[in-house]
Amino acid sequence: MIGKLNTLELWAGITIFTGFRYLFLASIAWVLCYWLFHGKWFHRKIIQKRPGAEDIRREIFYSLLSVLIFGVVGLCTIIAGRMGWNQLYWKVSDHSWVWFGASVILTIFIHDAYFYWAHRWMHHPKLYRRMHLIHHKSKNPTPWASFAFGPWEAVVQAGIFPLATFLIPIHPLAFGIFMGWQMFNNVLGHSGFEFYPNGFMNRKIRFFLNTPTNHIMHHEKPYGNYGLYFNFWDRWMGTNQRDYESRFKQVTQKRPEPEPLVDTKKPVTADSELA
Ligand SMILES: [Zn+2]
Ligand SMILES: [Zn+2]
Repeated sequence: MIGKLNTLELWAGITIFTGFRYLFLASIAWVLCYWLFHGKWFHRKIIQKRPGAEDIRREIFYSLLSVLIFGVVGLCTIIAGRMGWNQLYWKVSDHSWVWFGASVILTIFIHDAYFYWAHRWMHHPKLYRRMHLIHHKSKNPTPWASFAFGPWEAVVQAGIFPLATFLIPIHPLAFGIFMGWQMFNNVLGHSGFEFYPNGFMNRKIRFFLNTPTNHIMHHEKPYGNYGLYFNFWDRWMGTNQRDYESRFKQVTQKRPEPEPLVDTKKPVTADSELA
């Protein structure tokens, strides 16, 4: 079906579909984390304060601008596919279902490597202000910050679509599934809350998977912790912030029960109340 749409329909389709998914996932995270369970989960808030309304407005504005740019890059990539300039394919039967699944997983790993290096590159002093500063205006990010990029960074972030289609044969639906994973992780990483259990940092899985704490620390101090889904690039390159693991443990530890206002061991009598 995608193969038959005209240019405008394609751009509108990609933009609306991407925008709707971003708004849907970010809204769910917002309602859960900052409304329904805000009090109950607050001890898991990585930065212990509420984000400001001005920050949220800026995050939504730039995220929607990014969605428009993602639509343009998506459109160009699909046109390139129609011209045979990349490895986008339209019939699932052109490759096996096994390849269909494998292409989603491969794209996740390609994106993780691409994100790590592009992100480090955008932290270069000569590029940081022009490319990446808008994203770092969120010092205490919310789910709405997931796509809050300046226009040039949005082009770089959208680059995963042309890159993946250049490197491997991929069906548009497989890329759409990958995008669902990408958005879910991005919203989780910017939610501001840590969801992994305290024991995570005592297990080997910590070498592999990234955590929301890792990325929120990167927003607090814009150096180190450049990774996306996985932590192995940061570990291999020695770019994890030094206090990453201890901060995670501190955020996820059980908070001590508040001191009782009266000594609960002694029965309360009229005399003791007067005293
Ligand atoms: Zn971020
Ligand atoms: Zn950064």
